[in-house]
Amino acid sequence: MDPFSQGFLGAAAAQSVAHKKEQVWVFLLGFFAGALADVDVAIKIPGDEIGSFLLHRHFTHGLFFIPIGAAVAALLYWLMVRRKYPFKRIFLFAFVGYATHGVLDAATSYGTVLLWPLSNERIAWDFLPIIHAAVTFPLAIGCIYSLWKKKLWPVRVGLVWFLVFAGFSFYQSQRVVAAHDEVVAAREHTPENRRLMPRLGTVADWRVVYRHNGQIYADRAQTPLFKAASIEEGGAVPVINGVEDIVPTPTERQRYDFERYNWFADGFLAKTGNGMIGDMRYTSDPKGFEPLWGLKLEEGNFVRVRAAFKSN
Ligand SMILES: [Zn+2]
Repeated sequence: MDPFSQGFLGAAAAQSVAHKKEQVWVFLLGFFAGALADVDVAIKIPGDEIGSFLLHRHFTHGLFFIPIGAAVAALLYWLMVRRKYPFKRIFLFAFVGYATHGVLDAATSYGTVLLWPLSNERIAWDFLPIIHAAVTFPLAIGCIYSLWKKKLWPVRVGLVWFLVFAGFSFYQSQRVVAAHDEVVAAREHTPENRRLMPRLGTVADWRVVYRHNGQIYADRAQTPLFKAASIEEGGAVPVINGVEDIVPTPTERQRYDFERYNWFADGFLAKTGNGMIGDMRYTSDPKGFEPLWGLKLEEGNFVRVRAAFKSN
């Protein structure tokens, strides 16, 4: 999720297990540890733009990396505060803060290699949007009110609110599944890898994609609070099965780049009218096929492109 939500969740978790007199420094440490995993966006592999991009939400987000990430956060903080607090206590709160990061990201649909190195699967529980005010603000208010008043209850209320909201968001995702089941049954499809993409800032408006018989299908689902869930049916585009669909005789590098980007896009790559190989999980229209990003072949190499890209 966004760095503020990550930071405030990390801070809230750490503050809620700290003493009330420790609220200020634990807030700063928890926020830092909670957001730290996203420094992976700054890691660059020279000469490998796609590989560098795929490092985001990679090893720094894994469950097994939590002790290492927490140790780094604790050490940096310990040095920054001039060794004012015991390292053991700093490590404890850094651990609690850092531990929230990968799990929160896994609740979104982008994909997080939570079990790396045991598994390279991009885990995505598909029920939280990557930005939502109802996640960020109650956590922020809880954290700040607790450190201001030096009391524990506000941050705990913020944390409980967050858990209730996450539960509600999961419930909404299950409403989408139930409504969409009827649509695919009417189409007599057996969906392969159905994925839900909550739209930014809402848990009432969703893109649903799945593969069936060599096609990617997309529909829009709406789950208003006091009305029945509804589906607006979209269309379908042919899925790209392999790099040979783009380049008949690919080089090793082209195959490697295509395959790892296809892993990122969870097998939802399709060609667009302007020559882009689009990641059809994310589009501007929830039931359409105008991707926000994808790949393009440029001078024999696959390069990443974003929606602003227009072909001549
Ligand atoms: Zn992250």
